[in-house]
Formats: sequence, structure tokens, C-alpha cells
Amino acid sequence: MLEPNRELYKGLCYPWGRDVDPAPGQPERIAEGVYWVRFPMPMSLNHINIWLLEDGDGWTVVDTCLNLPDARELWEKLFSTAMQGKPVNRVICTHMHPDHVGLAGWLVERFGAELWMSREEFLMCRAMVGDTGRDAPEVALRFYRAAGYDADQLEHYRGKFGNFGRAVSPLPQSFRRLVDLETITIGDRYWQVIVGSGHSPEHTALYCPALKLLISGDQVLPRITPNVSVFPTEPKGDPLHEWLTSSARIREMLPDDVLVLPAHEAPFYGLHVRLSQLIEAHNRDLRELFAYLDKPQRAIDCFPPLFNREIGPNSLGLATGETLAHLNCLLGRRRITRERDPQGVDWYRQIPAAVGFDEEPHPPPRAPAAS
Ligand SMILES: [Zn+2]
Ligand SMILES: [Zn+2]
Repeated sequence: MLEPNRELYKGLCYPWGRDVDPAPGQPERIAEGVYWVRFPMPMSLNHINIWLLEDGDGWTVVDTCLNLPDARELWEKLFSTAMQGKPVNRVICTHMHPDHVGLAGWLVERFGAELWMSREEFLMCRAMVGDTGRDAPEVALRFYRAAGYDADQLEHYRGKFGNFGRAVSPLPQSFRRLVDLETITIGDRYWQVIVGSGHSPEHTALYCPALKLLISGDQVLPRITPNVSVFPTEPKGDPLHEWLTSSARIREMLPDDVLVLPAHEAPFYGLHVRLSQLIEAHNRDLRELFAYLDKPQRAIDCFPPLFNREIGPNSLGLATGETLAHLNCLLGRRRITRERDPQGVDWYRQIPAAVGFDEEPHPPPRAPAAS
């Protein structure tokens, strides 16, 4: 059982502490019919939080962990113990990343359950899994060459391409689409679907007004910043604009007194504060990047204003994606220009007349949340 251990830190309140770390595969009751299960993962982000929701004669599970033998074993243990041999009726994936979707296909297959997901996440995931084991396409190499990669860096990228599907069990051929702002019933509770974008194309969070809970996936995390990146599939995309817009919308739509159940780290109160912190941090990065571009720079030259650490070969891909997200956002705001040189490398520079950087106003919310 979770021991109350109220901890206040940087404007957030963690009812069970910031570092609460439930035993792997041991469900902890969060509210009536809602359980938190932590699954370990063998990487620097060393766990994911899975949510089990009582659903009539069975269970709805939210997110699934990577398709790895240890995770499957943990699920097997859960089925026969805490889940009391009752079936999984429905698998909801907040988004397409392997830590969330990895065992969805396996669970669906095993129980004849339905997969519920937003359409873009489902289709994108199937496309990415389809690339697994293939060679890196020429457009992707051109994309990273344009960002300033040298031959060794391109080779490193080529070696890692096509890994996405290695920890994802095949998704089913059909799914139930989750649509922004629709209300679904799980057990005897209403949950509202809240779509966000930028971390992934059509990320789905779930809000339960009666229980005052928000299953936030990776859209809102208490300590780490959700990754927002540009990838070679959509080189001119502006995911940071989408992330800022949808985060501001969530802040305006949802009440502040919800307990946020994030996919990583600990549950917390302070949704609005956390969203404001994340939005402000990105806006600060945009300002500093803009100032840094008083001289022409390539994407890979732009790490100093954005990261306060050395970027090694293993973090180069993520750092490049995040840097391009900030550069594309400044391009979209007409603050900087991009020019390709004869070698195929892009150079970014400030538009001098744009000095006096101010932030874009956020658009109003699209529709009110259920109450
Ligand atoms: Zn994610
Ligand atoms: Zn995640």
C-alpha cells in the first residue's frame, strides 16, 4: 500500500513523494477501480507507469510497456494475482512510442481484446513498425546531412535505423479509434479523451471528472520534459508549435485540482503549474536560440543555447530532433531564415528586423471539457 508522504517541490505536490517507486508489477490503488503498476525498463528512463482500470467483468489497461520477455512475465504474474484471472477487455495506448505500445498487440491477441487508440498514433505506429529492419532511406540521410552531420555521424544513424519495431509486438489489423473530446465509459466511470500533439502526432490523455484524475501519458510529466522532435519523415513539420498550442489548450480546458497520473515518474497535483513551467522553458529556449542566431549556424551548432550538457553520439539524434523543432518553430514565426549551401547543409540566421522577440499568443481552447 502507498504510504502518504506529501512532498512539495517546485510548485508541485506529490502525495506519495517525488521518488515513490512501487515494487515492479505490484499494483497500488490510486482511487476506486484505478490501480498503478510500475514496469521496469532496461534503459536510462528505467520504468513506465501502467494504469489498470476495473471494467465490469474484466479490465481496461492503459499503456503496456516494451515487448520484452521480462515485461511479458510481469504481465503474466499480474493476470493470475492482482487481476484475479479476469480478462483484459480493452487496451488503450496513449501514443505510439514502444514503451507504451510495445505489448498492446500481444495483450489484444491473448485476450481477444480491443485496441483503442487515436487514428494517427495507430497508423504512424504501423508505418514505423513496417520500416523495421530496412535500410535508412536516402531522404533521411540527406535530412541529417542538412543538419550538419559528418560521415561518421551519418554512419552511426544508418546503423541505428529501423530499430523502432524491435520492442513492439505486431499491432492488430483493426482498432477502435479514440477521438478528441469524446467521452468513453470504463466500468461505471466516464473518461474524456484529451488529444495533444507535438510529442507524438495525436497523443491521447484521459480525464475522469468524477475521480478528478488525468492519465496524462507523456504529454505532461512532472520532472523530465517530453521530447518534441522533428524527424526525416516530416522535415518541415512544426511539432513545437503543436506542443505549445495543445499544452496551453489543456491548461485552459482542465481544472487544476486533478491528480495527474503520468506515464513516467510520480503522480502529482499542479497540472497548470507544470504546463506553465514546460511552456515557459520552451519559450526561453526559443528566445536564447534566436539570440544565438545573430551569426549563421547549422542545426548541430545550436546545441549550446538549448542543452547544458555535452551531446555524445548516443544523444545526438534526439538533440538534433529537438533543435530542429525549435528552429522550425522560429522559422514558422518568421524570426529566422534557412539557406541550403552547395554541400546540402542548412544554415540558419536571425532576421535582423525580428529583434525584440516576443511570444506568440496562445489560441483560445476549442471546446470546454466535460465536468
Ligand atoms: Zn512518448
Ligand atoms: Zn513514454
